Amino acid sequence: MKQIPQANASSAGMHKRRVFFFLAWNKLFAGLLLSFALVSCSSSNSSKTTADRRPQVVATSTIVADLTQKVGGEEIQLTGILPPGADPHIYEPTPKDSRVLEQADLILYNGYNLEPGLMRLMNASGTKAKKVAVGEAAKPLQLDRSKGKTVPDPHVWGDVKNAIAMVNAIQDALIELSPQDKGEFTYKAQQLTAELKQLDSWVAQQIQTIPPARRKLVTTHDAFQYYGRAYKIPVVGTLIGISTEEQPSAQTVQRLVESIKKIGVPVIFAETTINPALIKTVAQEAGVKLAPRQLYSDSLGAPGSEADSYIKMIQSNTRTIVEALGGKYKPFTASKGQN
Ligand SMILES: [Zn+2]
Repeated sequence: MKQIPQANASSAGMHKRRVFFFLAWNKLFAGLLLSFALVSCSSSNSSKTTADRRPQVVATSTIVADLTQKVGGEEIQLTGILPPGADPHIYEPTPKDSRVLEQADLILYNGYNLEPGLMRLMNASGTKAKKVAVGEAAKPLQLDRSKGKTVPDPHVWGDVKNAIAMVNAIQDALIELSPQDKGEFTYKAQQLTAELKQLDSWVAQQIQTIPPARRKLVTTHDAFQYYGRAYKIPVVGTLIGISTEEQPSAQTVQRLVESIKKIGVPVIFAETTINPALIKTVAQEAGVKLAPRQLYSDSLGAPGSEADSYIKMIQSNTRTIVEALGGKYKPFTASKGQN
C-alpha cells in the first residue's frame, strides 16, 4: 500500500490531506475486502483437498502399493501401509494402520500369508472395504515344509509374469471401485504390462550370461523360488524359510555351510530387510564371498533409491545376481508405448 503523504499546514493543504486520507482509507478498505475474498477463496480450496473425493485405496506391501499407484494414477487416493525396508512377515501394525484400514474403500494386499499381522488386523477391523489378495492372482508354488505340510509361497512377484497377473487383478478391483475411470485404468495397466513383458525377457537374457555352472542362488530367506524357476537359476540353499518369523537353529546354519561347500557356489546373498550378521557368518564358515550388493526381497527401497519401484527392484536384484556370479549385466531400457 502507498504511503500516506506528509500533511501540509495551509487550509488548502488540509483539504488535500482529507482527500488523501479518504482515498487512502478507500484503498485500504478495498484492499481488506479483496484480501478477505482471497482468504475465503483459498480456504475453500484447501478444504476441498482435505476432503478428497477420490476413492480411498489402501495397499499393504510396498510392491502392491507401487503397482497400484501405476494403474490407479491420479484417479485414486492411495495409502501404502508398509514403509520401504520393513519386513512384511513380522510387521506389527500400529493404531494408525487400523484407522487407515477403517477409512478405506478398497484394500489390496499380497496374500498367501505374506503379511500375517496386517491380515489379522484387517479381518478384526470393522472395515466395509472390499479386500482383494492381488498376489493370489498368481498360481502359488506349494513348498514342502516340515512334516509333509505344504504352504503356498507368498513371494510371487519374483516371476515378472506373476506381477502381470497382479496388475490385472489390481485393474479389475479398481474398475469395480470406480467404473467411470475404466478407460484410464485400462490404459495405464496396458502400458505397465507392456513394460513388464519386456522386463521379463530382459531378466531371462541377463541370467543366461552367467556361466551355467554358477547359476545357483543361496539367499538369506526363501524368497526367490519364483525368480529362480522363471529365470532358470535355482535356489539351492537358504538360511531361513519362506517366513522370517522362524529363526534358524545352529544345525540349520551348519547344514547350510556344508551344502554350500558341497555345491560349490562362489557367492551368497544378504537381503535388505534382514539383519545380515548370520548370513555373513555362513559365508565366512563356508569360505565363500558375500555379494557386495544386497537383494531386495520383500520390500522396495526408499524413494530415490535404485529400487524405489517394482521394475527397478527387479533390475537391481538381477544386476546384483548377474555381477556377483560372473555374468555380463546390461541395464534395462524399456521402449515405451508398445503394446
Ligand atoms: Zn519373505
